[in-house]
Parts: sequence; structure tokens; C-alpha cells
Amino acid sequence: MRAVFLDRDNTITRDEGYCYKVSDFDWMPGAEAALVRLHAAGIPVFIITNQGGIAKGLFTQDDMQKFNDHLCAMAAQSGGKITDIAFCPHHPDSVKAGEALCDCRKPEAGLFFALADKWGISLDQSVMIGDRESDVIAGNKAGCHSYLYDKTSALDTLVKQVIKTHFN
Ligand SMILES: [Zn+2]
Repeated sequence: MRAVFLDRDNTITRDEGYCYKVSDFDWMPGAEAALVRLHAAGIPVFIITNQGGIAKGLFTQDDMQKFNDHLCAMAAQSGGKITDIAFCPHHPDSVKAGEALCDCRKPEAGLFFALADKWGISLDQSVMIGDRESDVIAGNKAGCHSYLYDKTSALDTLVKQVIKTHFN
């Protein structure tokens, strides 16, 4: 199947730095509308997110899970759907001497391959959208069409264009 991969922090939800508290949950502009549009078009949505704050001990995996569950619930409440969320809990600062960093932290593409295996996604027919260059690099490494999201604009505007270009 074809899918849209989205970054989480500052693409779907606002992030002032290591966001994990449900009370800090806030949509990026046009993010709700984008999720509704994708769902209405029958396009499965996956999130791929770096959560290095876990490795740094700033929050726990459970904290992140609660935030993600809230995000999925809010998306559903708005008429959107997030099918699955893949995360990297690692951070370069926490890698021990002589150890290699993981292959799942963007700009690496490990999480794309994992989701593709799990869900049967055709990566070369899918799209990645994120606000960082590392999102675009990771998406390209995975073989997806990859777009840099300008976070001063509405996410829905870009998603509308992406659907028109890749899903018709
Ligand atoms: Zn990782």
C-alpha cells in the first residue's frame, strides 16, 4: 500500500523542545485538516519521530506513549486517523564510546523500513513530510518522495499538493 509518513514534532504538533506532556499538546497550523484530508482520501498515515529525550533521561517511553495516545485520540476526534507511530529513543549524546549510533534515528531510514515490513508499504510510492532536513534525507534514503514542511505555513496546504501529485 501507499502511505504518507509524517514527522511529529513541529510538523503535526508544536514542540518548544522535548515535548512530552499531554498538557502541552497543541496542533501545528493546518495539521488537523491535513489528517482529515488524508483519511478522507483513504491514505494511511504513519508517524516517524526522533525521541532522543528518552535516551537523555528527560522523559520516559511511557510519557511519550501517553502523549502519542493523546495525539491519536485527538486526531480521531477530528476525523483523522494515525495508523501507527514509530519512534527512535536514542540520542548521539548517550552513545557509549566505541558504540555506533542506531540506524533508526533520522536522518537514518531504519524506521521507514520497519514500518514498511510491518504494514506492507511500498516506500517508492509513498511520501515523507517533515520540518527538518533530516526528515527529507531519511525519507529519500527510504526511497520515498520527500518534502520539507515550512512550519510557518499550514500543513494542509502542502498535504493537499502532495495528494494531488502522488495519490491520484
Ligand atoms: Zn534509534
